[in-house]
Amino acid sequence: MGSGSESVTEGHRSRALVTGGAGFIGSHLCERLLDDGWIVTAIDNLSTGRGRNIAALAENERFTFHQADINRDPLPAERVDAIFHLACPASPIAYSRLPIETLEVSSVGTRRCLDLALGEEALFLLASTSEVYGNPEVHPQAETYPGNVDPVGPRSMYDEGKRFAEALATWFGRVHDLDVRIVRIFNTYGPRLSLQDGRAVPSFIRQALLGEPVTVHGDGVQSRSFCYISDLVEGLVRMSVVERGRINDLPVNLGNPVERSVLEIARTIVSLTDSASTIRHVERPRGDPDRRRPDITRARELLGWEPTVDLEQGLRMTIEWARSTIHDEPRQAPVERPSRSSRGDYGRGRSG
Ligand code: NAD
Repeated sequence: MGSGSESVTEGHRSRALVTGGAGFIGSHLCERLLDDGWIVTAIDNLSTGRGRNIAALAENERFTFHQADINRDPLPAERVDAIFHLACPASPIAYSRLPIETLEVSSVGTRRCLDLALGEEALFLLASTSEVYGNPEVHPQAETYPGNVDPVGPRSMYDEGKRFAEALATWFGRVHDLDVRIVRIFNTYGPRLSLQDGRAVPSFIRQALLGEPVTVHGDGVQSRSFCYISDLVEGLVRMSVVERGRINDLPVNLGNPVERSVLEIARTIVSLTDSASTIRHVERPRGDPDRRRPDITRARELLGWEPTVDLEQGLRMTIEWARSTIHDEPRQAPVERPSRSSRGDYGRGRSG
C-alpha cells in the first residue's frame, strides 16, 4: 500500500529526469528512485530548492545534478525514459514573489520538457496540484470536478499555470501519442519543507519550536488534508509504473483524505512540540480556500494506493527533523528574488 511496502518499481528500473529535483518533493523522489535502482538526473535552478536537500545523494554514482533553469537553459543531454516534471514554486510566498517565473515554468518550462519527452519517447509525469480546483464548490474534490478558479485572482500565477500545464500535457499526449500522466497533489508535508515559506505545517512547527505565537489565518475553521511525504512519493512512483492504458487520459488525485481544521492542526503541533506558544488569529488572505479534501477513489482503484502515515505520526517525524535543522535555516524565505519588474506581493497565504 503506502510507504514501507516492497518497491513497486522493481522491473521498471530505468533513467529518470526529475525537474525541481532539489525541492522538497523532488529530493525525496530522487532518493526513492535511486533506492529502487533508477539512474537519476535532477535539474533545478535553486530558486526555491536547496543544494542541501540533495547533498547526501551526491555520493551516489547513479545520480547527476544540473543547476539550470528549465525555461531557458539547455536541458540535460542524458538519455531518459521518464520525466518527472516537478519544477515550480509551490508555496504562496514563493509564487507571489515569482509570479511571472511561475507562469513561465508551467508553460514554457513544461513545453520544453514535453518536447524532450517526445524526442526521447519518454513517459512524462506532471506534478499538478489540488489548487486547480480553486475554492471548491464541491466536497471532497474528485478529478471530474473542473474547479472554481479566478484567472486574475491572487493565486492565478500558480493555479492557472498548472491548469495550462495540464492542458498542454494532455494535448501532447493526444496529438503525439506521448505517454502523459498527471497527478494532482494535495497538501504534502515532511522533512525538508522550508520552515520559512509560509506553508501551514512548517510555519506552525517553526513558531512552536521558537516559542513564538502560532499564527492561524482567520478563525482557523478552514480545513486541510495533509499527506506525509513518503506516502506521496509512493503514489508518484506507482503512477509512473501503472500500465498506460489504465490511466485513460485522466488526472489522478494524490493526497490524504483525512480532513482537519487548521486550528486543530495548530493545536496538535503546539502539543506535540511541548511548546508554550499561544495561538494568534491573524487576517485570512484573499483566495485562501475554505475546504480541501481529495477524493482518492481513482488512486485506490488504479494504483492500489492510499496514505498509511497518520497526521500525528507524520508530524512527530517532521518535528524531529525541524528540531535538528531550525537553527541552520536562513532568516529569509529561501526564494531567489527576481530583479525585474515581475516582482509582486499578491495573494500571500497558505496552501499547505
Ligand atoms: P519546492 O519549491 O520545494 O520545489 C520546486 C523546485 O522547483 C524547487 O527546487 C525550485 O528551485 C525548482 N524550480 C522552480 N522553477 C524552476 C525552473 N524554472 N527551472 C528549474 N527548477 C525550477 O516545492 P515542492 O513542494 O517540492 O513542490 C514540487 C511540485 O509539486 C511543484 O510542481 C508543486 O506545484 C507540486 N505540488 C506540491 C504540493 C505540496 O504540498 N508540497 C502540493 C501540490 C503540488
